[in-house]
Amino acid sequence: MSIDGTLVGSAQEFAVINPATEETVARAPDASEAQLDEAVNAARSAFPAWREMAWSDRANALRAMAERVLAHQDVLSDLLTQEQGKPLRDARGEIIRSAEWLNETASLSATEEQRISAAGRIHQVRHVPLGVIGAISPWNFPVSLAIWKIAPALLTGNTVVLKPSPYTPLTVLKIGELFLDLLPPGVLNVITGGDALGPLLTQHPGVDKIAFTGSTATGRAVMRSASATLKRLTLELGGNDPAIVLPDADVDVIASKLFWAAFRNAGQVCVASKRIYVHEAIYDQLIQALSKLAQENLPKPGHAENATIGPVQNKAQFERVRTLIESVRTAGGRLIEPAGVLPQTGYFIAPTLVDNPPEDWPIVQEEPFGPVVPLLRYSDIDDAITRANASPYGLGASVWGTDTDAATEVAARLEAGTVWINSGAAIDPVAPFGGHKQSGLGVENAREGLLEYTNIQVIAHSA
Ligand code: NAD
Repeated sequence: MSIDGTLVGSAQEFAVINPATEETVARAPDASEAQLDEAVNAARSAFPAWREMAWSDRANALRAMAERVLAHQDVLSDLLTQEQGKPLRDARGEIIRSAEWLNETASLSATEEQRISAAGRIHQVRHVPLGVIGAISPWNFPVSLAIWKIAPALLTGNTVVLKPSPYTPLTVLKIGELFLDLLPPGVLNVITGGDALGPLLTQHPGVDKIAFTGSTATGRAVMRSASATLKRLTLELGGNDPAIVLPDADVDVIASKLFWAAFRNAGQVCVASKRIYVHEAIYDQLIQALSKLAQENLPKPGHAENATIGPVQNKAQFERVRTLIESVRTAGGRLIEPAGVLPQTGYFIAPTLVDNPPEDWPIVQEEPFGPVVPLLRYSDIDDAITRANASPYGLGASVWGTDTDAATEVAARLEAGTVWINSGAAIDPVAPFGGHKQSGLGVENAREGLLEYTNIQVIAHSA
């Protein structure tokens, strides 16, 4: 772990499992409560000098971090595939994208504004850092989702204690080590631990904000815990994203994009298409095209040549997804599962389609977060929109069709933080990203996300 500019281990450790082999990749430190205190205290002590540093110097630190990540992309991608399971080229993509994110964030600013009242009073509207940020990230994109928090937090003058998921701590620990000589001691601390560590961080009185990505259930616990000291919060939570395919969509053009919108990262994407509403005019053609793609993309270990889909990341998630699939079979639903033999060890599930299940089944109502997706037939667009919106979630959505004006009209009626037209989830650093309803609170990325790491301060001058 990186605490106060030094690499440290801990008395207790836990095993990190490779989901493709079920073997131990390495043992990671299980931070004690005293080590958490040390990390928070180090971040507190480092805060005043870091806050005073010129914005451009902090931006340059981010650029140096990007360069360091790129210089070590081979070892980081390999480690990410070992612990997360994703295909090696996707792991490399995540590493490169994270470096780009650091650079893109470095170019943002939170410039001060002046507002003059009718009476001639001048107000300086400033954005000042909050202090110590507790950043908590999940296991599906361990590096990207950590960088999304570290980059804006550091740029705005905050210091950070980062806690990655215990399922995927290794690549982020390595990145903490790589950044050690690029930042003053205590500015970025990376600690790992089991289930007890997250709650200790969210209730810690020395932490000013929690930036959290994970499930909605944990998000609620984080909010409760943060309330004791009124910590600022950004919560990026679960989703059950609808995709609406309009009758004029060209199946040959969209099938592949839609397939990857649902199955990239073995479906373990917060904004994966998780319910695909298809107009009856093209339903049969689309389900055929998608099942062909499923057959062509059987899961393989992430290090295998030509792997396009890896295993599910951990055993609990593997069991959960299998239970959901079995619930469809038991209830008499129709599953479309590709033929072929899967590896004997590892948490492999073939990309599975569910043919028009009733709307109230768990496979439609819950977020599977794995390689299974229901296709749902509709004939009336108003009905499709009502069904798409009938969810406590509101993270992302997509609309697919040839007439993009018509698709955009449908998009505007969907209750979601981002609606993509004719594309799977493409999260871009220029666009604020966040959930409506129970998918979250606040946004990440772009200027809007940056400002969530600041308090507004007004300096009012007498007229
Ligand atoms: P999770 O909620 O189980 O864990 C997320 C993180 O929270 C981990 O680091 C975990 O150790 C920590 N944690 C667990 N309990 C805690 C507690 N009581 N207090 C503080 N921290 C605690 O989520 P996961 O299973 O790692 O990730 C999958 C979920 O994340 C899915 O629901 C997915 O949709 C969501 N997700 C959302 C986004 C987004 O941007 N909205 C992105 C990726 C994943």
